[in-house]
Amino acid sequence: MKLNEFFVTIIRMKDQIKHQNNRVAIQVLIAEDDKVTMEILKKNLRGWGYNIVTVDTGQQAWKILKTGDIHMAVLDWIMPGMSGPELCQKVRQEKRDRYIYLILLTSKDNPKDIIQGLTAGADDYVTKPFNPHELKARLETGKRIILLESQLLESQNKLQEMATHDELTKLWNRRAIFQILDEEIIRSTRQHLPLGVIITDIDNFKRVNDTYGHQAGDVVLTEIASRLKKNVRKYDKVGRYGGDELFIILPNCNLVNLDFVGRRLQESINRKKIKTSQAEIHVTISLGGASSESAPDTPAEKLISESDKALLNAKKKGRNCFIISKKIQNQ
Ligand code: GH3
Ligand code: MG
Repeated sequence: MKLNEFFVTIIRMKDQIKHQNNRVAIQVLIAEDDKVTMEILKKNLRGWGYNIVTVDTGQQAWKILKTGDIHMAVLDWIMPGMSGPELCQKVRQEKRDRYIYLILLTSKDNPKDIIQGLTAGADDYVTKPFNPHELKARLETGKRIILLESQLLESQNKLQEMATHDELTKLWNRRAIFQILDEEIIRSTRQHLPLGVIITDIDNFKRVNDTYGHQAGDVVLTEIASRLKKNVRKYDKVGRYGGDELFIILPNCNLVNLDFVGRRLQESINRKKIKTSQAEIHVTISLGGASSESAPDTPAEKLISESDKALLNAKKKGRNCFIISKKIQNQ
């Protein structure tokens, strides 16, 4: 992706996220044991558009806060079971994916108490009896922080997706698929399980591009990627090796299974023409496979080179076929 395209994507992403954030429903926990105060809080917060969950003890509050569904909490300072500051402390000690904005509700307004509450992990406090306008403004501050965090997490996820996936096929990109291969090799060695890999290459793909145009070629490539993905197990991984070559990682796959999977993949492409705006195109793929069953503790490079050699043999044999390397030798 060119640098200017990258920035355009980022700006679009930001707009999308801003739009999504306007629709995020903020979940607020209210923990308050005084019934009158609770009624006032409920009425006000609902009126300001918050989704609320209410509890009247510290233990119940902790149970809800642990679920991870709460964005903000208004916690009474003194409650049966656990105090507001104790709750704040517990929340901050826990490792969590998302921030919870904590507001303490208190009749204590001397600086010592306030310092204690904030030190325990509260973000803000409101003194009782509270002024609804002030509470509303303080909740808005929390909401801004929660939405900002949402934006950051969303951008982080999208950037991560962009860094690890191929833009056209949405498969793992070359760097990611080889990183996965290294991890799977470590895992399969530890578990004494065979690891299978397959490299596929579209037969005469240049001809498809030349005859029907590059866009039709892109559709063919994308459809092949999608069919291969549909024809492997959920925990198998499919990536784009480069150009028209795809790479498949099959954990716990011995030579017999590898043969079975490879043939199924080959047939999934051969069986049905691919619809493009230009024409329905019949394409085939050649496949080369290798499994660490042939030689346990096979390094990644060896699995790749052996499946590559097998692919070359499949091409030599006339294409639209699957060949497995059976003679992996370490050292
Ligand atoms: P062979 O059977 O020997 O594989 O013949 P081939 O024509 O497929 O030759 P080769 O695999 O060497 O060439 C791959 C071609 O794939 C070259 C390029 O035009 C095309 N290609 C690579 N990436 C893309 C892409 O992203 N989109 C499209 N449409 N074509 C691509
Ligand atoms: Mg090819």
